[in-house]
Amino acid sequence: MSRRKQIYEGKAKVLFEGPEPGTIVQYFKDDATAFNNKKKGTITGKGVLNNRISEHLMIKLNDMGIPTHFIKRLNMREQLVKKVEIIPIEVVIRNIVAGSLAERLGLQEGDQLSRSIVEFFYKSDQLNDPMITEEHITAFDWASSQEMDEIVTMTLRINDFLSGLFFGAGIKLVDFKLEFGRIYSNEQVTIVLADEISPDSCRLWDLNTDEKLDKDRFRRDLGSTAEAYQEVARRLGVLPRNTNNFFDEKIN
Ligand code: UDP
Repeated sequence: MSRRKQIYEGKAKVLFEGPEPGTIVQYFKDDATAFNNKKKGTITGKGVLNNRISEHLMIKLNDMGIPTHFIKRLNMREQLVKKVEIIPIEVVIRNIVAGSLAERLGLQEGDQLSRSIVEFFYKSDQLNDPMITEEHITAFDWASSQEMDEIVTMTLRINDFLSGLFFGAGIKLVDFKLEFGRIYSNEQVTIVLADEISPDSCRLWDLNTDEKLDKDRFRRDLGSTAEAYQEVARRLGVLPRNTNNFFDEKIN
């Protein structure tokens, strides 16, 4: 890890220069934060699990024609991804009322939405990721109208696909957050799905019991957070049966 040039350190990941131009290595940490950094902790093994879970989901999305930044997993905690210009927006899509939607509008957590809701937040820790509309995004040139059409279309497709995939694993996909980036090649701009998809960025509830299997366990001090992430990995079929050595570090 130390041989590589660090580009950026975020809350849950570190980015290093990749082996070839246009590539980046994403290192998944066990660190967890919530409430805009006010709550900090570690979830043992989280980085290893998120690396695997995100790899699995990105490969499936690539297979169904959603362009992503994912190239390949390198080892337990690292994956090689394409370097993108991140669009400074968090795209949240919701199927069931939870979290900030419940709080802001005084709704009952757990209520099924009659249609999925797409929301946008401006990525700024300093401003506490304020909610914005497409009007702000296009007025401030964070993305064009055409890019936003593409982003929303991709988000809805991703939601349909992942909802089905998680349902098959006995999990309700309540809501999740996506980030997108631009890749420039031959004077062409392609919008691709970036960042990660994991229990850090999704609300995942057990299909039968509504037990939370995601970062809300950490946010709300519910305990057994690492076990919940493991359960998601197991249900998706990405946790090997013999987990004795699964969390051993073997970084090349
Ligand atoms: N989310 C995220 N990063 C953020 C904010 C939200 O990954 O900075 C995810 C969160 O895990 C949930 C969804 O986006 O799956 C919707 O989050 P919400 O707006 O309800 O905010 P929160 O309750 O996390 O404050």
